[in-house]
Amino acid sequence: MRNSLLLALGLIFLTSCTVRIHSGESSKPEPRQEWAIAIHAGAGVIGKDSPREQIEGARAGLREALELGQQMLDRGASGLDTVEAVITVLENNPRFNAGKGAVFTAEGRHELDASIMDGATLGCGGVTGVTTVKNPIRLARCVMEQTRHVLFAAEGAEAFADTQPQIERVSSDYFSTEKRAKSLEHWRKRQSALETRAQRHARASQEEAARWKSTVGCVVLDRNGNLVAGTSTGGMTGKRFGRIGDSPLIGAGTYANNDTCAVSCTGTGEEYIRHNVARDIADRMRYGNRTVHEAAGEVIYDVLQPDDGGVIVVDHRGNIAMLFNTDGMFRGAANAEGRFDIAIWE
Ligand code: ASP
Repeated sequence: MRNSLLLALGLIFLTSCTVRIHSGESSKPEPRQEWAIAIHAGAGVIGKDSPREQIEGARAGLREALELGQQMLDRGASGLDTVEAVITVLENNPRFNAGKGAVFTAEGRHELDASIMDGATLGCGGVTGVTTVKNPIRLARCVMEQTRHVLFAAEGAEAFADTQPQIERVSSDYFSTEKRAKSLEHWRKRQSALETRAQRHARASQEEAARWKSTVGCVVLDRNGNLVAGTSTGGMTGKRFGRIGDSPLIGAGTYANNDTCAVSCTGTGEEYIRHNVARDIADRMRYGNRTVHEAAGEVIYDVLQPDDGGVIVVDHRGNIAMLFNTDGMFRGAANAEGRFDIAIWE
């Protein structure tokens, strides 16, 4: 009896060593960053020959948002305040598909989605299909903090916004931009919203569904060791029938847990929902002992298919992974040790 107990303990020890070796972790703990932040503004086909103004404008928009996040975290702001403020800046930038600049539905409307999650408490909130809320990320935080629910949709979300005087409202055409109107026109000529998954993959990367869609997201580790994630989007051009993507869904497009990581996704929402991408990355860290890079890499390269999208992740030590299986992903990262970089392709 005693011998079999010792044998069992020995086996458990050996198994845990094998998993550690497989995950490439050393037994020495990595230094923990005092704070860290990553942001994205969408993944997809981003031609290196795209108009310079378009690329530089997007870079400048990312830089503005990242600088704000850097300053807030450095002076000790909470992860929740930082994610909300950074995403608000990205939502107000008409270049990105969130808030002003959101894409059009097939009917020529704007239906916005957002979510936020607090890794310290697992508190979370989301809104989907909102049409008059200037900053959906702010309303998502209200859902988290002012109600016992997690997700409000369409008219219900609008009615909830009516009860929150601090939430700024706009007429729906505030979100419209010429660029998105052109995308809708283009989409109408070429696409069917009833396309199947197999048809989408067959069309591959040069088609509109796989192009850069510029959803925005932010993940942070704050000075208190709290992880927070948020995502905001207009969805996909030509969406119909109240289509909901991954961005407002906790576990699919957004997830945070102080024990593992904070995740924000961007890409073809249907795939991210199907594979519960954000939660899968956190689970691979928790149950599979993976590092943040390994967990994100397995999901982006092995679970998802080429051209599905990308992800930003920060773990509880401030390690950042920003991976994508598309041509590029607009992204940026900063930390307490002076890292500050914006990137698109490489
Ligand atoms: N994931 C978003 C959605 O499917 C779109 C995107 O990230 O580009 O609504």
